[in-house]
Parts: sequence; structure tokens; C-alpha cells
Amino acid sequence: MTDQEKIQALRKELHQHNYNYYILDNPLISDYEFDQKLKYLQDLESQYPEWFDSNSPSQRVGGGVTKSFSTIPHRFPMYSLDNSYSIDELELWIERIKKRLLDENCNLEASPVHFTCELKYDGASISLTYAQGTLVRALTRGDGIQGDDVTQNIRKIKTVPLVLQGNYPTDFDMRGEIILPKEAFDKLNEERLAQGESAFMNPRNTASGTLKLQDSSIVESRGLQCLLYSLVSEQSVYTSQYEMLKQAKQMGFLVADTARRCSSLEDIKHYVQHWNTQRHTLPYEIDGVVIKVDDTHYQKLLGHTAKAPRWAMAYKFKAEQVPTTLMSVSYQVGRTGAVTPVANLAAVLLAGTVVKRASLHNADQIEKLELHYGDTVFLEKGGEIIPKVVAVDRSKRLAAALAVLFPENCPECHTKLERKKGEALHYCLNEDHCSPQIIGRIQHFCSRKAMDIEGLGEETVALLVREKVVENLADLYELSAEKLKGIPRLGELSIQNLLEGIQKSKEKPFDKVLFGLGIRHVGETVAKKLARSFTSLAQLKQASLESLVAVEDVGDRIAQSVYTHLRAPKNILILERLKSAGLKLQLENIIAQKGTKLLDKKIVVSGVFDSFSREEIKDLIESNGGQILGSISSKTDILVAGDQMGPSKRIKAEQLNIPIISEKELMKLLGI
Ligand code: AMP
Ligand code: ZN
Repeated sequence: MTDQEKIQALRKELHQHNYNYYILDNPLISDYEFDQKLKYLQDLESQYPEWFDSNSPSQRVGGGVTKSFSTIPHRFPMYSLDNSYSIDELELWIERIKKRLLDENCNLEASPVHFTCELKYDGASISLTYAQGTLVRALTRGDGIQGDDVTQNIRKIKTVPLVLQGNYPTDFDMRGEIILPKEAFDKLNEERLAQGESAFMNPRNTASGTLKLQDSSIVESRGLQCLLYSLVSEQSVYTSQYEMLKQAKQMGFLVADTARRCSSLEDIKHYVQHWNTQRHTLPYEIDGVVIKVDDTHYQKLLGHTAKAPRWAMAYKFKAEQVPTTLMSVSYQVGRTGAVTPVANLAAVLLAGTVVKRASLHNADQIEKLELHYGDTVFLEKGGEIIPKVVAVDRSKRLAAALAVLFPENCPECHTKLERKKGEALHYCLNEDHCSPQIIGRIQHFCSRKAMDIEGLGEETVALLVREKVVENLADLYELSAEKLKGIPRLGELSIQNLLEGIQKSKEKPFDKVLFGLGIRHVGETVAKKLARSFTSLAQLKQASLESLVAVEDVGDRIAQSVYTHLRAPKNILILERLKSAGLKLQLENIIAQKGTKLLDKKIVVSGVFDSFSREEIKDLIESNGGQILGSISSKTDILVAGDQMGPSKRIKAEQLNIPIISEKELMKLLGI
């Protein structure tokens, strides 16, 4: 096989694996094997730039910057939908349709009108152009006549096929919705809040905002999905909407299996009611259902108005809202000093759960609602972590009610709050003496994803700070049994655990330490990338802003934050103390060590390890030629077992006679 043939074969194979994984939800190879193949393809492609293909699976990963999005006319206009809000309105629409078809001399007795009911996904609409089975262009809806070219960003969405499967029309546009699943939205907001940034309001706006990001590597990380529902082309290829959906799925598009074919108003009503009450069970948000005349011949006869097709109708759900009473407002100070208001409410049932608290987001939101204590407020639950207050019933307000005013001073330390221009949140800048900030920073350092210090849970950290035995990260490493004695609720055993945990944490690799420092905007991934690029704190401290920005995923804001943090005298002092305590402030070269000692060995890694994280153990195995498997089977060669491995794994490995080795034995095997 020539290299060119190899490239083509790999591309084809990887497209198929993508399809198996993202559309069929049925992967046939492990993530590791996929990554290896992708790496191989990337190597070959970099050797032969002349065979570049914008639809290669390699284009789904990594960066790429779109400075400005060009506006391009749609080949077929993107219509809107007419809306209805009641079953009566739907019934009238169906009557209108039937009348029109009768006027066109259709025999509705012989071929009655059927409908396809679909969910109305709440996202950003998209039009994907395919020619000869490959993605050519992706346009946002824009004004329906022309939209913005977001092709580069769309390629990062794994559920958008770059190359189609099976049979497909040679030239067509596929229409659908870019959505951000609730879980991805929650995760994103949790990360943002943890880094002192304001939360996004809802998944829809976040999805459309993400499509317009200049840096496509961020698009890749956000977890957008693309659900398709309409195929438009010059020639009519399908006889019905329902049939088209089925075919689209076979071409490799993500098509929800919630569509139903209905033949009566009764069926439609049933569908509408079902999803109106069950919408919160879906992984993404919907704002209604869409009812479409199924038969494409009838669709043609019915045609369009200037704005929308006559053959389709949206049924909009009323936003699920419940009224309750606002009892009080709490202001929470996070580890970055950001102050977020939370409404405390009379308990009420919303979308299946009892709600007592709701987000008020920020000062602007309180002002916009003109909130007063004792108000009857309406709550809505979207994809949010907690529901939000969306409206106030002013008619119920008592004359004497007091307005809710955002505090001018920090509720914890009384320092005057600041709000930077263009920022939504207020901050308490008294970072050294504001206890929730001190506690938050140390909790972050001890947390599982950072130093993972056993015996130092959130409660204990708060206790130590309140008792004034710890004020900063370096103080942790100067604790002794002596200093801890006499602290209420801290027994001898807890003290021992805690000190051992702290001692053990000194073995944590550099990137965990870096993440643990809690430098603003530096999340887990960025910390890893910085650690890998600069290899030590000493080097990182020397880094110029330009060299920081040169690191993947690091933009101006992050670079500035790292640069300033590492130069602040008080941080320098703390870092010096951490260094003397013996923390790892440089990458260990063990992980980088490469070899072939485990070539082709299929290895399962399970449990928790002493000196390394599970990810590091896996990296180590892979860089020595081994393959990581997800579960034990007769194909497994070795099981690397850490602490807390489930007993069933051990039993299975023993039954299959698979050697079980410890972390230490693995190191020995590798000659480390
Ligand atoms: P609206 O934005 O309320 O005018 O509703 C029209 C929009 O609904 C369209 O532009 C589509 O983006 C969106 N939509 C969501 N789900 C569907 C679906 N199943 N069929 C057609 N349009 C849909
Ligand atoms: Zn404060």
C-alpha cells in the first residue's frame, strides 16, 4: 500500500469508527486504539501536506482560528415555523391544510394526510451542505436568506458527519439544530463558576455563542451536538418526512428516535402531551414539538408563505414555571472572591424535584426583576444546576415590602465590593483575609482533582482556617500533631490521617500542584499543558507572555493571569515554602520515559495508586507500547491493581488466570 492509499484507508476507517461511536453508540475499538490510529494518520498527513483534506478525521481535533465569519447566501431559504399554543389551534391548522389539499383535487379518502411529529430542539439552527457525500459548508441561519460560514467550528462537533455513509443524494443541504446537552451545560457552568467566571444563562445561547467562537479548539471541548431534521435539494428524493429521517440516520446523521408518524389529531395530541410532561427526562432542552405533513407530495402542493412552510406547525410549550415566595437572599463568596446571589424560597415542586433555592445570577438580574423580599416569584428549570427566578408577580407585592439591594460590602469580611467594567460579577478583593476565599483556595488545593489529600475534606479545611492554624497553602506543610492538638472535633486518629495525607501529597506530580495553586482561569487541562510545555515552575516563572500564549489552549487572559500570579511577592513566598516542603515543582521524567517493554500487552488498570494518578499509570503503559483495555476479558494480559479495586475485578482476573501486579511491580517491570 502506498502512503497515499494508507492515508485514504485510515481516513475511511476513522470516519466509520466515529459513526459507530457517536451515531450508533456502539464503538468497536477502544479509545486508545482510535487515538493511535488518529496519531498515525496525523503523522502521515504532516509528511504529505499535498494530500490535505478539510474533511479528514484529523480536522476534528485541535485548534484553528476564524478571525471573521463571512456571510454567504443560503442555496435554499431557511424558513421559520408558524407557532401554535393550543390543541384547538392545531385542529384549525389541520382543517386548513385539508381544505387546501381538497382544493388541489387531492383524494384524501384514498391517500389520507399523515403527520410526522418531532421534538422542537432548543438550540441554534444550522444548514450543512454536502456534495458527493462530503461536508462542504456549514452556515448559521442568519436572516434566513444568508448566514455566517461556521464550517471550521462545525467540523469539531463529532456528531456532524464529514463524510457520509451508504446511499445519499449527490448534492443537498441538511438542516438541523446545534444543541448543548444539559449535562455538558452544567459541567461548563460549574467550571466557569469555579474559576470565578459568570455562569452562562441557558444552553441555547451558549450553543449559538459557541458556534461563533474564533478559537475552534474551545468548540471541540464544549460538547455540542447536532440533531438533524430536514433535507433539502433540487430534486425531491424522498416520498415522506418520516422516510427521510430514517435515511438520514443511515447516511450517518444524528437523528433523534423520538419522531412519530401520526394519522389523527388524537395521536398528535397524545404526542404533544407526552413530551410536555416528559421533557425534563430528555438529555437536552426542547421548547415544543413540530408537526409536519408527512407526504412530500402534499408538502409541495401546500408550499410556503413568505415566512414559513404551510405544511409544518410548531406547538410551543409554555415554559414550566411555578410560583413561590422569596424568603431571603444569600450572597455566597467563592474562592476567587466572586459574590453570587442565591434566592431562598418557600419549598415548591418543579419538574419532579423539590426546590428551595434558586439562582439570581448577579446584581443586574436582581435589578432587572426589581426584586422585593416576600415577593411571589416564578421559577423555571432549564438545563441549570439549580433553577432560576425568571419573573415576579408584582400584583401580589405588599406595599411595605423592601427592595432587595445587592450589598456594597462583602457579606463575610465587609470589604467594599468591586465590579470591573464589562464584568457581570462583583468581587471581594480582600483575598488574604476574607475567610471563604481562604477556605475555598485551600479546599481547591486539597480536592480530588488537585492534590487529593486524604483526611482533609472540605469541613476539616474550614475548621483549620477558622481555628487559624492554616492561612495559606504553605501552612499545610508546616502542620504538626502539636499544632493540631486541642482543636475541637479533631481526634487523634483524624490528626494522624491528616498529617499522613499531607505527607503523601508531596508525591503528586507538578501539574496537579500547578492546578492546585488556583491561579485564576487555570483549569485542569491548562495546568497539564503548562506543566508539559515548561516542565518546571522555575521555567514557568521565567516565561514571557508571548511564550505563554504559544501554549495550546492558553489565550491572553490565562497568560496574563499566570504571569501576574507568579510575580506577586506573596505568592513567590508561598511557592518558596512549598518548594522547601518538598513538593514536586517540576515534571518527573518517569512519565516521559518511552520504551517497548510492554509492546502489544493488553492491560487493564484499576483502583487508586500511591505515587501516580491512574491517568499517569496509563500514560506510562502506553508510552512503553502497552494497550489499555477498559474491562477484563480473556484477551487481557495483565491487570495493574491499585487500592480500592472492586473485588469482582480481582475474582474475574483470577478465574481467567490473568497476572495481577501492583504499581511497584509495574515499575520494576519497566526498570524504573
Ligand atoms: P422559531 O425559532 O421559534 O421560529 O422556530 C423555528 C426554528 O425551530 C427553526 O428555525 C429550527 O431551527 C427550529 N427547530 C427545532 N427543532 C425543529 C424540528 N424538529 N423541525 C424543524 N425546525 C426545528
Ligand atoms: Zn470578603
